[in-house]
Amino acid sequence: MWQGAQEVIPTSDFLLRHHFHVDQECFLCRHEEESLHHLFIGCPFARALWFGSDLHSIIYGTNFITFKQWIEEVIYKCKEYQVDQDLVKKFAIVFWCIWLARNSARFQSKDANIMHFLYKVKSMLKFAEDEDSTTAVRAEIAKVAISITWQFPPSGWLKLNLDGLRLRLSGAGAGGVLLKMNMVVLFMDLQHLSRKLTPY
Ligand SMILES: [Zn+2]
Repeated sequence: MWQGAQEVIPTSDFLLRHHFHVDQECFLCRHEEESLHHLFIGCPFARALWFGSDLHSIIYGTNFITFKQWIEEVIYKCKEYQVDQDLVKKFAIVFWCIWLARNSARFQSKDANIMHFLYKVKSMLKFAEDEDSTTAVRAEIAKVAISITWQFPPSGWLKLNLDGLRLRLSGAGAGGVLLKMNMVVLFMDLQHLSRKLTPY
């Protein structure tokens, strides 16, 4: 979606502007030329997905000139109207599913089936909600664990706390803090490890 906000999604009109010779026809409806506006707003497939996901009043109730403005307005209204649902998340999932449907029609010559993608939206939303609840439970467990386990080092002792993380694409980072009693920091360091150094 952030690519949409930057208007750099490689739809046919974008590719043509950058001198790539591609088929201009919308791969979902085969009736109009593909553009950001058409693919995500005007295309009958997109309309069906927005309506089927109950987001149509927000999607088609905004005033905008550029695509970036449309995304900003929709996110603003999602935040304004949401009560018991995360509408921004729903918007992002439907947006993503339109792009998935387009790519499957474009690269695998598959006709976009609206029912299939409505089901996909629902399952992705369910997965996101389950992940949220799992993350919330983990966060609560982590809070308890931290409050129970961390102790100041006893007098005359030093304590070294280490932590690290690994991101699949950008490499890994690690850091450490060396403490003595009364939280006096003796040493602190953060390192970014390149991908080559990351053990897999
Ligand atoms: Zn279309």
